[in-house]
Amino acid sequence: MRIREIHIYQHDLPVKNGPYTMANAEVWALDSTLVRLVAEDGTEGWGETCPVGPTYAEAHAGGARAALIAMGPGLIGAEALPLTLMRRMNGLLTGHNYAKAAIDIAAHDLMGKHLGVSVADLLGGAVTDRVPSYYATGVGAPGDIARLAADKLAEGYPRLQIKVGGRPVEIDIETIRKVWEVVRGSGMKLAVDGNRGWTTRDALRVSRECPDIPFIMEQPCNTIEDLAKIRPQVSHGIYMDENSVDLNTVISAAGTGLVDGFGMKVTRIGGLQNMRAFRDICEARNLPHTCDDSWGGDIIAAACTQIGATIRPDLCEGVWLAAPYIDGHYDPRGGVAITDGHIARPTGPGLGVTPEAALFGAPVQSFGG
Ligand SMILES: [Mg+2]
Repeated sequence: MRIREIHIYQHDLPVKNGPYTMANAEVWALDSTLVRLVAEDGTEGWGETCPVGPTYAEAHAGGARAALIAMGPGLIGAEALPLTLMRRMNGLLTGHNYAKAAIDIAAHDLMGKHLGVSVADLLGGAVTDRVPSYYATGVGAPGDIARLAADKLAEGYPRLQIKVGGRPVEIDIETIRKVWEVVRGSGMKLAVDGNRGWTTRDALRVSRECPDIPFIMEQPCNTIEDLAKIRPQVSHGIYMDENSVDLNTVISAAGTGLVDGFGMKVTRIGGLQNMRAFRDICEARNLPHTCDDSWGGDIIAAACTQIGATIRPDLCEGVWLAAPYIDGHYDPRGGVAITDGHIARPTGPGLGVTPEAALFGAPVQSFGG
């Protein structure tokens, strides 16, 4: 089954009650890129990639579309199979995993729809249809974040991620302590995400001043060298997020014991094919990890939920979705949502969601047909 057409769309997603604040970014709106693959028999598959602004990672919306436009002509007539497509894309363009991910996700959706099975089945099989999520606070005042923690605990979230960094570290420590007063004894898991924003000095101080609070530190500092420097000096687990840009880096981080787990983004690692390999590497080393994306709408949400449902439950740190922070759905039936801190895996073949193409207007570029 070969690819007959590729259509690339741009879509704006405003952030509710914006901006969303991280150590090094304020996000008011998202610029998402969607891909529709059409096979020669007319079967369609949808993909999406949506960098959270231009400073979170080495990725930006215009770059995603430029990369897809550069690769598009070389993918017409290719077999619509994820591994075949990934190798073909790597032969057309080096790097740009986050753009290739949109094609990869669309190929999984297309293949699932063609075979009449879910993407989770294609990825080895779901272990649950109720996938745990987690809530990520923005960087905020200690009292506000503690109140938010109480709300999210009451809503049923099994895990909370507190955003820190980009301000005096004393305020971060006060925030962590106030949240702990709220969630202590509840069983809610805690992650403290610096988004590369702490110096190693800050990270060491937080760990030393909060030895009684069982949080993990997610990407506290900017570089792999920073993580290696603090690693022997902290008593908290370290997860790598932004630094884990490809499978090669993940293998080194897991294999050398640099980290205790990962925050992982489906698009950063190159899509579901590579995410599946990442999942299996983590399972081989008993490393817990999240299964997220930077941001995006229902297509990304469905992709993260489908693979999230296949992770060994004791290693699954949750699937984060942008859904609580954005309005509306692509799928007129409702799309992917979080209820009681968990996500119902979309049913039906492929990703299980079918977007209303008219929402996205005319394609910015089309190939084939
Ligand atoms: Mg993170």
